[in-house]
Amino acid sequence: MPATDPRQHSAEHILTAVFGQLFSGKLLDTRFKGTKVRCDFAVQSGLPIDEIIKQTEATANAIICQNREVTFEQMTAEEAAQYCSLHRLPEETQDVRLVLIGQDVVTPCSGPHVKNTSEIGRLHIRTWNLVEPGLIRLTFVVV
Ligand SMILES: [Zn+2]
Repeated sequence: MPATDPRQHSAEHILTAVFGQLFSGKLLDTRFKGTKVRCDFAVQSGLPIDEIIKQTEATANAIICQNREVTFEQMTAEEAAQYCSLHRLPEETQDVRLVLIGQDVVTPCSGPHVKNTSEIGRLHIRTWNLVEPGLIRLTFVVV
């Protein structure tokens, strides 16, 4: 398996946080396939999908442009649950490494990340479709 690109990984966290903030979104699945990343998001919004994608991409890039430092904090799962959703971790997880990209992008993750969002470049959502009502599948690249 090829190593995950730290730029893609960091961009995925920002995208997930933006979906959460704007559309009560929840990341259900991510696949890293070479230069492309495919994500499934459950969202709650009455807006047309094109509008959701436009707003999400713009907000994610606005965060990337803030040149945020990326930092880490180790804590117990119980503590971490106060800062973010742990729905993608196995239930028996005891210790969690939180990845913080500013105050409002907080993700439990042990993968590779950039040190500063300025390294990411720009996040571009290339394709998207509604798999079913409330479920968006998209692919993005960082350029
Ligand atoms: Zn990560």
